Amino acid sequence: MHFVVIGTSAAGIAALETLRRLGGTRARLTAVTDEPSEPYSRCLLPDLLAGKKSEYSIRLRPAGFFPKLGVEFLAGFKVVALHPEEKKVFLEDGRQLSFDRLLVATGASPVMPEVPGVDTRGVFALRTLQDAREMASLFPRVSRAMILGGGLVGLKAALALKVAGVPHVTVAVASPRLLTRQLDEEAAAMVERELTAAGLEFIYNAQPRAFVPGPHGTLAGVELADGRELPADLAVVAKGVRPNVQLVREAGGLVGAGIEVDRYLRTSLPDVFAAGDCVQVTDRLTGRKTNSALWTLAAEQGRYAAANMLGLARSYPPPLTRLNSARFGNLDVVAVGKMEGEEVLRAFEGTTGTYRRLVFEGDRLVGFILAGKVKGAGVYTALVKTGRPAWKWRHLLLEGRAGRVVLGCLPPQRRVESKIS
Ligand SMILES: Cc1cc2nc3c(=O)[nH]c(=O)nc-3n(C[C@H](O)[C@H](O)[C@H](O)COP(=O)(O)OP(=O)(O)OC[C@H]3O[C@@H](n4cnc5c(N)ncnc54)[C@H](O)[C@@H]3O)c2cc1C
Repeated sequence: MHFVVIGTSAAGIAALETLRRLGGTRARLTAVTDEPSEPYSRCLLPDLLAGKKSEYSIRLRPAGFFPKLGVEFLAGFKVVALHPEEKKVFLEDGRQLSFDRLLVATGASPVMPEVPGVDTRGVFALRTLQDAREMASLFPRVSRAMILGGGLVGLKAALALKVAGVPHVTVAVASPRLLTRQLDEEAAAMVERELTAAGLEFIYNAQPRAFVPGPHGTLAGVELADGRELPADLAVVAKGVRPNVQLVREAGGLVGAGIEVDRYLRTSLPDVFAAGDCVQVTDRLTGRKTNSALWTLAAEQGRYAAANMLGLARSYPPPLTRLNSARFGNLDVVAVGKMEGEEVLRAFEGTTGTYRRLVFEGDRLVGFILAGKVKGAGVYTALVKTGRPAWKWRHLLLEGRAGRVVLGCLPPQRRVESKIS
């Protein structure tokens, strides 16, 4: 049986390891990626930019990983077409690969604004190692950086540039505050205070209208929709991602908010599976169809898809797609599940500078935000994930005494998840 995996990031690597572990040594494994390098952690790219990590320390697996796992690794080759009826994929150099089962783990690409000058030298997205390398090569000459986007990636990039020594870093946010999808106003204001103290500046209700090149063709400024032009010699666009669905769509497969998959992570094409940022999932709490864009979920989907490619029939439980944990300067933030619900409880603890927001529906905790002291966040997350009655523990949870909450046994579904994790 020949298994081909397109994409060697969170989902692809997890799938390859599972295919080998559960499929034994005889399965033939081939992995293709259009990136030239060995796999690395995208989540650590801001730390690389900041100089806190090296390229070596953000590698996902040690050198020799692919040969040791018995995987034929084709790096630097884009897959340009998928012919499901012939069970073949075509690489851009004209090569063809036949497969028995295929995993599409092509991830997502940054959404770039369609405005004049977006291709100007000095305008970046932060998605790949190559982006980080090119950005870092400009640092010595950068005095003003503009980040477009007040989400997690934008803020991490902004802080990284500041730590790397860029003197002026401004974040231009389309909405009236930061992290609208992750945090409520209180928690977002705490993040803003922390980042302002670290030297970042913020502009709200700001959309780019054009990137303005200087006389040498490199970026000189960013023009905003309200007419202001702000000087900048580097700009980072962080306005979300779009799933890479082209291969499946052009092959006739169904695509919604991402590649459509069933509960076994099978696409609508025969023997073609998909996992990670490229797929559409259904949020466990809201029932909304979305693409999850989270590392842990991509890896989890890779493992499930691999088990199903081997015919083991492991049903992937709908995930929690709002599951964020981040550190901004000295402030830790965890946000999980729903932001609104029937009952919302909030508390600020002055002694530790900690904010907690709990969202209940009936007896169940369906979401929470912790900002400041986040110890015990795992207990809150487990309550949201398992749906165990939690109302009786609301005071303990609101006071941050989660350690005293008794979780008991996890339901059987969790045991299946851990079996293949
Ligand atoms: C700066 C940054 C910080 C982040 N921080 C966090 C975080 O703290 N926590 C978190 O949960 N998530 C974070 N994420 C998101 C996380 O990195 C993604 O959810 C995760 O990488 C998704 O993994 P994936 O395997 O689905 O796809 P990707 O990581 O996107 O990898 C897909 C791979 O497939 C390759 N590919 C695509 N098309 C083709 C083709 N046609 N032929 C060959 N190869 C192809 C791509 O080049 C890429 O290498 C962050 C992302 C960024 C950019």
